[in-house]
Amino acid sequence: MTKEELALEVVDRLKKEYPDVGCTLDYDQAWKLLVSVRLAAQCTDARVNVVVQDLYEKYPDVSALADADVEDIERIVRPCGLGKSKARDISACMKILRDAYGGRVPDDFNALLKLPGVGRKSANLIMGDVFGEPAIVTDTHCIRLVNRIGLVDGIKEPKKVEMALWKLIPPKEGSDFCHRLVFHGRDVCTARTKPRCGKCCLQDICPQNGV
Ligand code: SF4
Repeated sequence: MTKEELALEVVDRLKKEYPDVGCTLDYDQAWKLLVSVRLAAQCTDARVNVVVQDLYEKYPDVSALADADVEDIERIVRPCGLGKSKARDISACMKILRDAYGGRVPDDFNALLKLPGVGRKSANLIMGDVFGEPAIVTDTHCIRLVNRIGLVDGIKEPKKVEMALWKLIPPKEGSDFCHRLVFHGRDVCTARTKPRCGKCCLQDICPQNGV
């Protein structure tokens, strides 16, 4: 099976296994996803979803958060870790949204990349989830799984994995495919315990099965 064939088969099987997927960060407006993805660095999505409730209760829109004292943002987001740098980025980002984009999140990948604290992973997530555009989100689950499955060979650097996957995954499938990798990585192809290959829908096509 070529890598292209393998990719299509994996996409298909994960689609059947996890038919309803979405981002595990809670948000109802684009700017909130921007805040949450920054907070999610080295933190669980579940914790971020709790912490942002306090943040949005006090600062309910882009302008309010742009006007907030950075120290107060830091106090609220501290449970997510890296409070100082996350608060600084969120504050600067909200100021740019307010001043340059009329309070809206830009629907352009390169414009997103220029926002403080937004890297390729976050920009792809926003393009896919908010704007419905093709996206490849190379988080830790994605990188681990595509290596194990054999879609890439020993590539750990997120941008290189992203570029390799762009060549293999149909563009309209990319965003949901990456969400499905997160679900599969949490439930079956786990990082800290032995992967549960016996329960895996990919076991007969994965080179790691039984290793
Ligand atoms: S067969 Fe095992 S290693 Fe391969 S994807 Fe499934 S759980 Fe992961």
